[in-house]
Amino acid sequence: MIDTHTHLDSSKFLEDIDEVVNRALSVGVTSMYLPNVDDESLVRMNSLQERYPNYIELMLGLHPCEIKGDWEKILDRYDKLWEANPSAFIAVGEIGLDLYWDKSNIGQQIQALNHQLDWCLKYDKPFSMHVRDAWEATLKVLRERKCPELKGVLHCFSGSLEIARELIDMGHYLGIGGVATFKNSNIANVLSEIGLDRIVLETDSPYLAPVPHRGKRNESSHLQNIAIFLSDKLGYSVQEIDTITSANARSVFLK
Ligand SMILES: [Zn+2]
Repeated sequence: MIDTHTHLDSSKFLEDIDEVVNRALSVGVTSMYLPNVDDESLVRMNSLQERYPNYIELMLGLHPCEIKGDWEKILDRYDKLWEANPSAFIAVGEIGLDLYWDKSNIGQQIQALNHQLDWCLKYDKPFSMHVRDAWEATLKVLRERKCPELKGVLHCFSGSLEIARELIDMGHYLGIGGVATFKNSNIANVLSEIGLDRIVLETDSPYLAPVPHRGKRNESSHLQNIAIFLSDKLGYSVQEIDTITSANARSVFLK
């Protein structure tokens, strides 16, 4: 299995990162993709990749909740990192729009998003995108920039069937995580309509742990709970869920 979005650099893992990685490997998680958040996370991500070069891949981007203060300077610096070594990163992430925490800077958030989507095209990379309370604005950006070369994952997807269909039509993938297992979630119903062709799995650790770990720290080994849940709901074996979603992850991230 491939955990396509996991913040293993989080301070929540400082005490026991080796056990966390080993537990993930022991349940069959073979790759973990780490989205960047800000400068601080980048330092920790780099050291994790040095420690686990066979299992950890890195993304580079500035999280929408970090579009404040000197965000333009940070993007300038990331421009240079991309230019210096594009093969160091498998994707542009974590980018996106978040109007839950702050609506006042939507203009800057959209500017930063577009700047970072340019990296996808320039360096032929997919994106890992965060969307919170911002579907309308996000779809507007993606529609304006629609082209066969721009592909990515809408991470932690929890939108409607209609939104799912539009994103898939545009060539994108949906990241499915612990939220799908929550009691009031409609995601399994959406998946039973659209199928698994454009689905990848993720934990978004340390956040959003799936049932039966809900409310506790999430970690990449819990990807198996998400696979088991989808297997129960959609009538595939866990092995089939793994085979299909891992192939999807490879085709979007390792193209
Ligand atoms: Zn994230």
